[in-house]
Amino acid sequence: MADKRIGFIGAGQMAEALARGFINKGVCKAEHMWATDPVDERKEVFRSFGTNPVDGNIEVVTSSDVIFIAVKPQYVSVVLREVRPHLEDRHTIVSIAAGITLQSLKDAAGDGIRLVRVMPNTPCLVGETAAAMCLGGKADDSDAQLVQRLFDSVGKIYRVDEKLLSAVTGLSGSGPAYIFLMIEALADGGVRSGLPRDIANQLAAQTVLGSAKMVLQTGKHCGALKDMTCSPAGTTIAGIHELEKAGTRAAFMNAVYAATQRADELA
Ligand code: NAD
Repeated sequence: MADKRIGFIGAGQMAEALARGFINKGVCKAEHMWATDPVDERKEVFRSFGTNPVDGNIEVVTSSDVIFIAVKPQYVSVVLREVRPHLEDRHTIVSIAAGITLQSLKDAAGDGIRLVRVMPNTPCLVGETAAAMCLGGKADDSDAQLVQRLFDSVGKIYRVDEKLLSAVTGLSGSGPAYIFLMIEALADGGVRSGLPRDIANQLAAQTVLGSAKMVLQTGKHCGALKDMTCSPAGTTIAGIHELEKAGTRAAFMNAVYAATQRADELA
């Protein structure tokens, strides 16, 4: 891994989050990273943390082994067709573009290329992404291990069949927005009950963080964890009753399902 050189075509928000995560966790040295972007300020950002900004997409490809395609979805094909003559067996192409299928990547990059499609989410920016990947073209287990190792440094990644990537988009891809809405609503409830806004925001966010850690660290069923906090005729069961009356479970299920269907329509 340490000998792999990593390139970013598109040096935007996601590319920066990934690059900083890889460097901070020591999975790649900054001097072994290349990045390009038509916007000079983005290249300067990459220079500021020690990577090698270059002027063109082809230079990224010739300098790197693992190439992240981190442009907006509509530019993916154009970028891959540009660099296609310079792709070699040593390259692993990792596309993080939403909705761009392995077949589209193969059509643009050509046969015989190692392709990995990843759906990350925005908590990548704070090193806590929930991501999924699928393999295409000539990619094999060694490519999966490589991508796993990289994403372990910015959160968690799971391997799925490509047909499940829309469901991943509906759950973890779109999920941060559902949770932001929930945190805002919890804080509103706190303010309605008399708390100052800043304390209400902190309490709501920390409650979500702590609860998620309990689920991940204890391995207990969410229902069991919920039951542990509900004493008979207590405060929590009174709150739960209101959530059940409002159909909160169905609302979250419907949100994931609707976003999944939308992702299918866009793919
Ligand atoms: P961004 O706009 O911050 O970054 C894209 C960068 O690509 C820009 O800096 C732009 O100047 C550059 N660019 C445009 N054309 C280019 C070209 N021809 N060659 C090289 N660079 C070019 O966008 P982002 O939020 O970082 O998203 C990047 C990709 O990640 C998208 O495809 C998106 O679907 C995917 N993604 C984003 C999120 C998210 O929440 N931001 C989540 C999952 C997946």
